[in-house]
Amino acid sequence: MSEPTACAARCPHDDAYCDNCDRLVGLPGVHVIDVDRRPAGLVVEVESPPAVMGCPTCGVVARSHGRRTVTLVDIPCFGAPTRVRWRKRTWTCPEPSCPVGVFTEQDTGIANPRAMLTTRACRWATEQVRREHASIAGLARQLATTWRTVWRSIEPILARAAADESRFTGVTTLGVDEHLVRHEALLFRMEVRDLHRPAVVAVG
Ligand SMILES: [Zn+2]
Ligand SMILES: [Zn+2]
Repeated sequence: MSEPTACAARCPHDDAYCDNCDRLVGLPGVHVIDVDRRPAGLVVEVESPPAVMGCPTCGVVARSHGRRTVTLVDIPCFGAPTRVRWRKRTWTCPEPSCPVGVFTEQDTGIANPRAMLTTRACRWATEQVRREHASIAGLARQLATTWRTVWRSIEPILARAAADESRFTGVTTLGVDEHLVRHEALLFRMEVRDLHRPAVVAVG
């Protein structure tokens, strides 16, 4: 029989992660250790499980050097802007002759190094622009962040997609859409769309 208080009973404990919270948040490789609902939105704190780490340069077993928390913009959750606080592990190499110094946990499945959005939020925002006609300003409002943060996060992905010639494969009929993409500056974007698929093949 299910235990109705199991989630609440387990969540606060450092030594036992909560399967229900992990399933709800759905970030691979990390576990939920705290959830807070604030006026500005939802804040989810995550960490990877403890594991032995080898020095990436010399391979010696590294020594824990504490945590460095990074805050990432994630996809809005249950109607609320969401932040993921990732308590990254850091290590030092105990080998005196090794030049590596302190190094920090990285997992591009969660976020690229120095990213401001989670990897899945970058993907979501890109799809919103490419397939749902979303404006950058609208996405910034939904994510409770700035236009510049959204644009800097997805521009490289959009540029890669634009450079991919395979987007023309199978296109038989083209149509043109115009969108007001940034209300403040009255900029317009022209999209060339494949009328038989929900895909933008060029933007101008
Ligand atoms: Zn839980
Ligand atoms: Zn080393």
